Order: sequence, then structure tokens, then C-alpha cells
Amino acid sequence: MCDVVVIGAGIIGMLSARELHNAGYSVTILEQGETARESSWAGGGILSPIYPWRYPEPINRLAAWSQKAYPGFCEQLHEQTGVDSQWIRSGFLMLDVDEHERARDWCQDRKIPVANWFGESLQAREPELSSMFGRAVCMTDVAQVRNPHLVKALHKSLLDSGIKIREHCPVRHLKIQQACVTGVETEQGLVTTDKVLVTAGAWSGELLQHNNLVLPVKPVRGQMLLFKARPGLLKHILLWEGRYLIPRADGRILMGSTVEDVGFSHAVTEQAAHLLCEKAVTMVPALESIEIERHWAGLRPGSPTGVPYIGPVQGIEGLYLNTGHFRYGVVMGLASARLVAELISGTEPTMPASDYAPGSLSEQVG
Ligand SMILES: Cc1cc2nc3c(=O)[nH]c(=O)nc-3n(C[C@H](O)[C@H](O)[C@H](O)COP(=O)(O)OP(=O)(O)OC[C@H]3O[C@@H](n4cnc5c(N)ncnc54)[C@H](O)[C@@H]3O)c2cc1C
Repeated sequence: MCDVVVIGAGIIGMLSARELHNAGYSVTILEQGETARESSWAGGGILSPIYPWRYPEPINRLAAWSQKAYPGFCEQLHEQTGVDSQWIRSGFLMLDVDEHERARDWCQDRKIPVANWFGESLQAREPELSSMFGRAVCMTDVAQVRNPHLVKALHKSLLDSGIKIREHCPVRHLKIQQACVTGVETEQGLVTTDKVLVTAGAWSGELLQHNNLVLPVKPVRGQMLLFKARPGLLKHILLWEGRYLIPRADGRILMGSTVEDVGFSHAVTEQAAHLLCEKAVTMVPALESIEIERHWAGLRPGSPTGVPYIGPVQGIEGLYLNTGHFRYGVVMGLASARLVAELISGTEPTMPASDYAPGSLSEQVG
């Protein structure tokens, strides 16, 4: 019997397992498919909420904590595993004219570096940007990671540190006796444990339903396009009308994303490709002649307000959640993993935990 069974090997499950291992627990992760092939692979890796001033404090609190920790974390992973997560401080250039003042004030209140660029100075900083944009606000310290590299490094570091990951091992339901967790029933048999952490991403709500527990986490599809551009075409992450372009170190540019309520479908659509392509070319006309190398979709773990559920489920001893990170699981992940490990081990939480408390799940939360 291991100390903690973690259900789901996405970024949240892996980061949580790492924190629990560092706190002295023996941890096994059960994954229904392959490690980190779902939302955590598919996402953009922008280390900031988009339009952060529109989000509640509990989201920005987790993001801010993680943003500080990310450079050291990626460096450590690189040293341990030889895999570079490509943490790059690209800056976040926001082209939505009507929010300039709000953005600037929000950043200044929090002492977050922010710059206002106009006309020629904007064009000089981002020469391929369409001339229709005469003005932009740049959050100059915002960084990105390359998701597939980050999760590969993380996976390797977990295996090297002795954390067990059982792939192709779907959990059917939890074993709960007299309001205490006693194990999980998987397609490969019963795994006994007195502590279970659910990090099953978009599937978390569906999984808990099998135990008549109600958690409003559901899949929200996001489609992405990858342009095979040359290195240096873009310098910053660009954001306009909710769509973004992310320049990777090798020149490839990611265009995202759609936000679609279509259940558990990973299908990609012509309509989304057309929309994303049109937006991309409006921002950066040079993309019109650049090949689209790939088009994919991921399922975000959508929660009603985007605030994740972190901590013990009231009334069921040994059941914990770290799920529902919706659009920002990468940037919130380091902080939420630290917090859930603190709540499991009973150490003083790094940040106020009550904003994320799952409650009893016996009726609709959120
Ligand atoms: C298109 C797109 C763009 C995004 N961009 C960003 C961004 O720029 N910045 C950012 O911070 N976030 C971004 N996100 C969001 C971020 O990717 C997610 O919030 C995050 O990956 C969620 O991680 P997770 O581990 O909870 O979920 P997942 O990565 O989906 O992992 C959950 C895992 O649980 C497994 N599982 C489910 N049910 C079971 C079961 N019954 N038994 C065993 N295993 C199970 C699944 O197979 C899966 O591997 C984006 C997401 C998408 C889709």
C-alpha cells in the first residue's frame, strides 16, 4: 500500500506527486492513458492568465506564486533530466485598445513591469505586427514554457525519483467505507490506500459521479494551430480579442485558441482552423504564406469560475482534490500542487486555502 494514490498524470497530478514525494510520502499515480497526453500537452504554456485583471484574486494569487517559482523549477528539471522546458521571458503584448488603461493600472498596483508602446516604437519592437495596431501594452516579464517539453522533463524526473506511474490504468470509482477512503477500483483491480488525490482534469466530475459526488468540472475544448515559421519572426506573445500567438524558440508559432462546450470530443474543425488562421493573419500578415504544420484540440478542466478545487473533500476522510484549473493549469500548477501537499500533510499553507475548498460535494458546488 502506498501513502497517496494520485488519479491522473497530467501536469497537476505530476506536480502534486512531486510535492508529496518531497514531503516524505510514497506516491503512485494511476493514469488511464499515457502520461500527460491530454490538456497538459495541448496547451499554450503562457505563464499568465490572459487579461489577468479580469480574473478573481484566487486565480492571480496562484499564478503570481508560480510565476516566481518557474525559472528555478525549469532550471532544476533541466539539470536533473537534460530536457529543456524552454522557459522564455517573451513578454505579453496586448493589442486591445480599450483596455490599455485598465491593464496599466492593474500592473502598476501590483508592481508588475508594464510598458506602453505606440506607432513607430511599437513597430520597431515587433516589426511583423500589422500596422493596423498603433498602440499596445506590454507585460514585459511574462514568460512561456513549451508544454510537451515541460511534461516530458517532469515525467522523467518523477520516475528518476522513484514515484510510480501506472499508465493504461483507468480508475472506475473510489472505495469509500464509513466515510473513509480505503482504495480505488481500477480496470486492473483494487489499489488500497487511505489517501486519494483526484487530479483527473476534465474527467474529474465524471469520475466522482460514480460515487454520487457532484463536482462541476467539465471538458471545455480548445483548438490550436501551429505555424512552421522562421526563428525570430515574432518576439513577443501577442494577444488580440482573446486570441494569442506564441513564438517558440525554434521559430514555430502557436495560434490559440477556441473555447467550446462540446463534451469529451477531441475533434478539430475546419471552422476553427479558418477562424484562428484569419485572426493570426490579421495580427501578423506574414503568416498568410506560412505553412500550418499541425492542428489539434485539448480538453480543459472547466470549473464554473476558473478557480480550481484544492484540498480535502468535507465528510470523506482521505479524499482530496486538485482539479478544475480550466484555462490556467500550467501557470497555477506549481502553487496549487504546493498547497494541496501542505493540506494533505497538515503543514501551514503557503496561501489562504479557503478560496479553493471543495466543500462536501454532496450537492452542487460553485
Ligand atoms: C488549447 C489549450 C490552451 C491552453 N493554454 C494554456 C496556457 O497558455 N497557460 C496555462 O496556464 N494553461 C493553459 N491551458 C490549460 C492547461 O493546459 C490545463 O489547465 C492543465 O493542463 C490541466 O492539467 P490537468 O493535469 O488537470 O489535466 P490533464 O492534462 O487533462 O490531465 C488529466 C489526466 O487525468 C487522466 N485521467 C482522467 N480520468 C482518469 C481516470 N478515471 N483514471 C486515470 N486517469 C484519468 C487523463 O487521462 C489525463 O492524463 C490550455 C489548455 C488548452 C486545451
